[in-house]
Amino acid sequence: MVQYNNNITQILLDWFSSNARILPWRKNRSAYRVWVSEVILQQTQVVQGEQYFNRFVSRFPTVESLAIAGEHEVLKLWQGLGYYSRARNMHAAAKQVVECFDGKFPEEFKALKSLKGIGDYTAAAIASIVSAEPVAVVDGNVLRFISRLFGVEEAVDSAIGKKIVKNFAQSLLPKANPGTFNEAMMEFGALKCVPRNAQCDNCIFSDVCSAKRQNRVYDFPVRRHKTKVSEREMHFLVVETSKGIWFEKQTSRDFWKNMYLFPFVDSSNALLNGIIDKYNVDLKFEGELVKVCNVNHILTHRKVLATFWKIEGDLPEMHSNSILVKVTDLKSMEIPVPKLIDNFLRNYMPDMENC
Ligand code: SF4
Repeated sequence: MVQYNNNITQILLDWFSSNARILPWRKNRSAYRVWVSEVILQQTQVVQGEQYFNRFVSRFPTVESLAIAGEHEVLKLWQGLGYYSRARNMHAAAKQVVECFDGKFPEEFKALKSLKGIGDYTAAAIASIVSAEPVAVVDGNVLRFISRLFGVEEAVDSAIGKKIVKNFAQSLLPKANPGTFNEAMMEFGALKCVPRNAQCDNCIFSDVCSAKRQNRVYDFPVRRHKTKVSEREMHFLVVETSKGIWFEKQTSRDFWKNMYLFPFVDSSNALLNGIIDKYNVDLKFEGELVKVCNVNHILTHRKVLATFWKIEGDLPEMHSNSILVKVTDLKSMEIPVPKLIDNFLRNYMPDMENC
């Protein structure tokens, strides 16, 4: 088994040395840069991730610069990636590094896990890549590759299944350069052992891969539960006043906490009165409430059935979480808005394009 694993390790390292993609976070390696890239890549594919990474590290080149930034700005840079709690956690972790680690980003697995939002996966990636700590990384790509390679029949969404995959990955990890090997596993899962259309016919492991030998590639990874997608109805009111369009900062522990949305209620029944009660504003308007569009917006575990209504009104009373943005400033506005709202502004407020 040891010899067998050594062969797999070397074959994968050889493959990686000639197939590794040139990516911005693979240059000027530091714990901070690896951390930023790993969190971004939990959200998106590499191509889009590169743009976000470059923007993020160019605005926040050091952990100190991130720590002293306003949350607004951090969320704005994260806009479009979703899972905004991750951006808020990064901001909090940067402050922790400054306060508890004298501004030096930790590089050891245990210390990394003490930072907000950093779990086993991210800690293992940083510790192995930056300080050669021998801890295997198991992300979604590794989970799929390893469970196919070894034919793991346990469900990978169970504790035991995860442990089995982790143990297999750990058993392959070389003493020298464990970080490079971790990257190789992730890269192989991302480029060759992909969810659909896995490249088994010209795979370097086709002789030894359990899933391939059983002709059951797509039976792995085994999962117990399908992720349930819940639906939420949201009715947004786009209120254009003489001073600008009304946005509300979300303060509840909702999935868009601290982002700005149009005021909304969950039901179209008594839409206007619902908005007036919920936001405690004196909303006066003339004319009709016009339905602009219905949009189905997919989040990780949720589908939002959004309806946008438009009125021209007036708001004599605003409160601390309200903000009015002039139509001419929409394009350059600094407040962070979720992709759903950003898409609406681009598609249904064409004036933005001419601002
Ligand atoms: S043979 Fe197919 S399933 Fe097995 S490791 Fe290669 S690409 Fe993945």
